[in-house]
Amino acid sequence: MMGKRGISVTPEKTPRKPRKPKAPKAAEAVPGPAVTKSDHAAKLLAWFDQEGRKLPWRNQAGRNQAGPKDGRHPDPYHVFLSEIMLQQTTVATVIPYFNDFIDKFPTLAALAAAPLEKILTAWAGLGYYARARNLHKAARHVIELYGGKWPESEEKLRTLPGIGPYTAAAIAAIAFDQPAVVVDGNVERVISRIFAVADDSKSPAVKKKIYQLAASLTPPERAGDYAQAMMDLGASYCSPRQPLCGLCPIFRHCDAYLLGQPEDFPAKKPKLAKPVRFAVAYWLRRGDGTILLRRRVEKGLLGGMMELPCTHFKDDEASGFDLAAARAAAPLTTAKWRRLDGRVVHVFTHFRLEIIVLAAEVRLADGNLGQWIKPENFAEIALPTLFRKIASHALKQGA
Ligand code: SF4
Repeated sequence: MMGKRGISVTPEKTPRKPRKPKAPKAAEAVPGPAVTKSDHAAKLLAWFDQEGRKLPWRNQAGRNQAGPKDGRHPDPYHVFLSEIMLQQTTVATVIPYFNDFIDKFPTLAALAAAPLEKILTAWAGLGYYARARNLHKAARHVIELYGGKWPESEEKLRTLPGIGPYTAAAIAAIAFDQPAVVVDGNVERVISRIFAVADDSKSPAVKKKIYQLAASLTPPERAGDYAQAMMDLGASYCSPRQPLCGLCPIFRHCDAYLLGQPEDFPAKKPKLAKPVRFAVAYWLRRGDGTILLRRRVEKGLLGGMMELPCTHFKDDEASGFDLAAARAAAPLTTAKWRRLDGRVVHVFTHFRLEIIVLAAEVRLADGNLGQWIKPENFAEIALPTLFRKIASHALKQGA
């Protein structure tokens, strides 16, 4: 049975005062009796069968592939690829990248056999590039260690590069129908509301509690569809603001709805401002119209990707924007570097980066400085969004 009161993980907290429930708009207005786990799953699965999102990685036949392994579940390769892409990224952004990857790397074997550079180039613009490198490593592991056959257990999936507990559970549930407990951000919000968990869902203790509550609802059958149904509910009706409770298939089972203020769950701490870092980038144009690019070192932020040369990111503006030091450290110190107007701002997960740009032109330059590429060909290389922004900034100023 599900409880009908708010759950607090920190018991000393003052209990919430229940409010009068709002009347649902389209579903039945009177909450029913406490429901069982199977009632909950049955309602949600019936809704999913009608309303579940049509996504390319859920298409059993895939875009270019032969059908699924067992006639019902999506191809594990498609689930793997989509789940890695969806980490920190929205569905709308991922769809064209997913389709492009399936065109370029139609099978796991094709992905494993491709050079990393080709994968990074296809990934360019999607961000969090360590995911692309791990994608490649994981594909190779499955080919080399498992003969190309995906392991089906969460435990074995977790041993693959870049596959953490959430992704392992999602692949196990969606591709292999294992009763794995899949809790992404959307599901976390839905569970917080179903059980009216009144604490900050970012705290590890509350996350653990939410996982246990999610486990208590996961059905033994159709676990993959159930996981996707919870994700879809969180992405559609159970939105962070103004959830559409009147249309929700499980409003009768939802304590936050019954308390009358679903948006209050989960509780959130105010966001802290991100730290700011500062750096100088170099835009060096050669007489043939090409621009100097380099490859970043394999490890660290944007590791292995192409870049416009730039200085180290500094925590304080004075040293980050020290133009005398930047000119002394330029890739070609004999060039006449001039500062372009304005600055480029790019926001990473953990910090905001502000960059000013030094530009120069040279008739001829040493090929050993890096690669010389025309701006119109930047789309064909693995150039992260930060450097595309810098390129756009320089080109707008005629540099
Ligand atoms: S009733 Fe409302 S708050 Fe509860 S799960 Fe449904 S949409 Fe979310």
